[in-house]
Amino acid sequence: MNCEVIAVGTELLLGQIVDTNSSYIGEQLALAGIDSHFQTKVGDNAARMKSSVELALSRSDAVILCGGLGPTQDDITRNVIADVMGVELETRQDLVDKISAMFSQRGRQMPQNNLLQAQIPVGGEPIPVQPGTAPGLCCPIGDKVIYAVPGVPWEMTKMIDEFVLPDLRERAGITSVIASRVLRTWGASESGLAETLADEIVRLDETGEATIAFLASGIEGLKVRITAKAASQAEVDAKLAAEEAQVRSIIGDDLIFGIDDDTMETVVVDLCRQQGLKLGAAESLTGGLIGQRITAHPGVSDVFQGSIVSYADSVKAQVLDTGDAAAISDEGAKAMAIGAAKALGADCTVAVTGVAGPAPAGGYKPGTVFMATYVDGVAETLMVEWPFDRKRTREFTTITVLNQLRKRLMARSV
Ligand code: ATP
Ligand code: MG
Repeated sequence: MNCEVIAVGTELLLGQIVDTNSSYIGEQLALAGIDSHFQTKVGDNAARMKSSVELALSRSDAVILCGGLGPTQDDITRNVIADVMGVELETRQDLVDKISAMFSQRGRQMPQNNLLQAQIPVGGEPIPVQPGTAPGLCCPIGDKVIYAVPGVPWEMTKMIDEFVLPDLRERAGITSVIASRVLRTWGASESGLAETLADEIVRLDETGEATIAFLASGIEGLKVRITAKAASQAEVDAKLAAEEAQVRSIIGDDLIFGIDDDTMETVVVDLCRQQGLKLGAAESLTGGLIGQRITAHPGVSDVFQGSIVSYADSVKAQVLDTGDAAAISDEGAKAMAIGAAKALGADCTVAVTGVAGPAPAGGYKPGTVFMATYVDGVAETLMVEWPFDRKRTREFTTITVLNQLRKRLMARSV
């Protein structure tokens, strides 16, 4: 069974929207064990869409179209599918009822245009999972199948996960379960980790027990994804657990800050909560990014006191009481961490100062960063010279300084 993806929308061709939907679907198809050899982008044009679909059907067993299911004039995916199938569109009363109910629940009148979304090519079926007003389509054509899902990413992902993938796997007769676990790491490079794990990857290639993939994800760290396949969920879980233990024993627990949806911030906040510590920050170079990352997660107010964005030297001196310490220095970072603890009533803090770039400052080249962590009355510092642009310098600093605090809190709890 192989399946290809066609992303519909002129804005994709013009570069106004990045086609993240195709990458998502591509990744999920691979994880589901379904081959996918082509991805196409096509504008909202009936003739060109039709030829794309026909070409895809000539070489693949299944086609997923995404986008163009909306209620407006340029949303013509359903018409094109009907044309390819050689059938008419029919209005489905059950869909009319469903869509109008969605509008009345929100206290709104359904625009006439939305009736177009209740039209389905004869012989096709609406996808039963329908997160928004646009129904998806599942249309058999000979022994092949065309799916259509909306372009809106959250609607698309839900339909793909809950209907399209299971349906494809059933058609392909795939009964095995595939699952992944992501080990979230920070502190090693992708090539460094790949080298450390090289023998294990060779072993896995031979045994087929699991696969390992690396994904460098900036402020989210370097992800190590373990994927395994088995006949049942219990079996696949056991395989993942065994391989996770194996990888941990090779690369060491120190590098791994969390798994799956954990982030550096949630891990640090959880450690603070377990240890009854209040957390604070003082940020110069990161300009609030640390505070923003932490507060992006709900329910941190019991732990997180706040972050002082002390950009000007005068603010460092007045608000954080940094005294004579040079603004860009080890001593400066240390003084900021101690000052933030006092000003915020925090038990532990992180602080960063440095040169984000692109221009040098204070005699330091861009990318020079001084970080400090403070806990149990002791401030420790770390200096790094990042070879990055301003954005990555700020991001890498944020995750690195939080990781420093994480390591200190871990050492404290044992
Ligand atoms: P709607 O009901 O909103 O009209 P639709 O199925 O017609 O949905 P489109 O009009 O093609 O979908 O796209 C709706 C929005 O979804 C776009 O404005 C864009 O934000 C997003 N989108 C569409 N296609 C993609 C894609 N391939 N990758 C990422 N985002 C996309
Ligand atoms: Mg649309």
